[in-house]
Amino acid sequence: MVQKVYVTYNDVHKLCQESAEKILKDFKPELIIAIGGGGYIPARILRSFLKQPSGKNISIQAIGLSLYENLGTGEPEEEPGTEVVRLQWLDFSSEAIEHLIGKNILIVDEVDDTRTTLQYAVQELQKDVKEQSVKLGRSEKTNFSIFVLHNKDKEKRGKLPEDIVESGYLAARTTKDVWICYPWEATDIDEHDRRAAEQKENGIKI
Ligand code: 5GP
Repeated sequence: MVQKVYVTYNDVHKLCQESAEKILKDFKPELIIAIGGGGYIPARILRSFLKQPSGKNISIQAIGLSLYENLGTGEPEEEPGTEVVRLQWLDFSSEAIEHLIGKNILIVDEVDDTRTTLQYAVQELQKDVKEQSVKLGRSEKTNFSIFVLHNKDKEKRGKLPEDIVESGYLAARTTKDVWICYPWEATDIDEHDRRAAEQKENGIKI
């Protein structure tokens, strides 16, 4: 049985707050792409901390990806899927896509587990942005970086480009291979918070 660790909204807020300074310094993002569903709330919180006093809010685009469970009927914490399915993607028919080209783009998700989802997101975004650049005759380089709340310290199935691993990747926390319970998945948030508080009292921190 995988150990479950409970994370509260407050924890998520503070992880975003403490990471924002580093993100501003190292990645200077001009646009956020949130991977749904888990990346939406961290992306929105992060945006508040990335806003410069005289600057505009960074806009958030959403993509929806899901790991297709092709291994059986087990709980997600028991059997992660292996195949990524696109539920929602960028709208390449609109002018908005032109604004992505040449930008520093921060991809946000809640957790890097097997890395399958992040590999897919980076690979496909790089490919699509390149295609659009060629189509529109634009030569500026588009830079991708990644922020996750938690990175599990384990053998990764997915691979990321070297430059992103070296200088374009930030995890607010690196954890053991536990199952992290996020507050937005809770059906009883008071019970969720109680369990989180109990774990903190017992010295289990994430
Ligand atoms: P990947 O294995 O591709 O890195 O992660 C795929 C997705 O599985 C994540 O975006 C997340 O939705 C889900 N996932 C993986 N590990 C955890 C976890 O510990 N807790 C929760 N709640 N979801 C997870």
